Amino acid sequence: YFYVGRWYNETNRKKWSTRIFMNNLSDIATVKEILTRHGFRFSKSLGQNFLINPTVCPRMAELGGAGPGVAALEVGPGIGVLTRELAARCDKVVTIELDKRLLPVLGETLQDFSNVTVVQGDVMQLDLSALFQQEFAGRDVIVCANLPYYITSPVIMRFLEERLPIRSLTVMVQKEAAQRLCARPGERACGAVSAAVRYYAEPKVLFSVSRGSFMPAPHVDSAVIRLDIRQPGDYEHPLSAEEEKQLFRVVRAAFGQRRKTAVNSLSAGLSMDKARVIKAMEQAGLPPAARAEQLTLDDFEVLSQALFTEE
Ligand code: SAM
Repeated sequence: YFYVGRWYNETNRKKWSTRIFMNNLSDIATVKEILTRHGFRFSKSLGQNFLINPTVCPRMAELGGAGPGVAALEVGPGIGVLTRELAARCDKVVTIELDKRLLPVLGETLQDFSNVTVVQGDVMQLDLSALFQQEFAGRDVIVCANLPYYITSPVIMRFLEERLPIRSLTVMVQKEAAQRLCARPGERACGAVSAAVRYYAEPKVLFSVSRGSFMPAPHVDSAVIRLDIRQPGDYEHPLSAEEEKQLFRVVRAAFGQRRKTAVNSLSAGLSMDKARVIKAMEQAGLPPAARAEQLTLDDFEVLSQALFTEE
């Protein structure tokens, strides 16, 4: 960059300074300068906390699997600090940003990359299957994002449930959400969403990120997690769409009343006779006093079958 910079400096001073700027999007002074020049104010309701710790984005991109032959989808680029790390490593990057005010900023900060497409829209509303068809057909795709925290779980569940063709999801989320999303059966943080994530993926907490790594600093610490998506061939006993639906009804009902035994929660949540639930637990080889967080995904699958199979 030094030599490129000097060359630009001799011919066009402005271009030179812009070039140096863009390489430094986690520097507070640089971020403030760009945002002030664009008259930008942070929106709390859009979860706008921008990363200012220079080590985080390169680490996220590397551990998320960015590299040659790979395409990346990002959600919420902000001013493009992670986008640039992805673009420098991947063949192609598509990034979805809801806030229209950030488009001119991104136009500037991503100007030296020709492999980035910015899509303006709401990640929860866009037709993601169509987007994948159009932008990523035939490519090996990873998702890598510092997610807006107000929609962390819905975004993750949308990617998983729609079975979009992705290899992995590497996302920054609130620390508590990371624990919940990656919890194993038996752990206190384990809930319905932990079981759902484990059905679709192999989750892992990669590293923690303190609140001071963001501008403005949020009130909570964060963590980066990676979900390695289970591919169709990875399922020992693939379930039909109907069986999947039943499984998640059972999981949600079992975790519905946390202080109760699974039998009581299931009976209430599924409006089922308690004796029938106890019998299904027995058929599944599960102790009747078990609590939902003690059951594995395999337990839930067998239990779901026992509950919904007509005698
Ligand atoms: N990636 C940047 C970084 O790490 O500094 C910004 C991350 S910030 C936590 C979340 C970003 O998501 C913001 O840019 C915000 O405008 C955007 N965003 C919020 N809601 C969104 C939605 N529904 N769809 C797409 N982007 C959204």
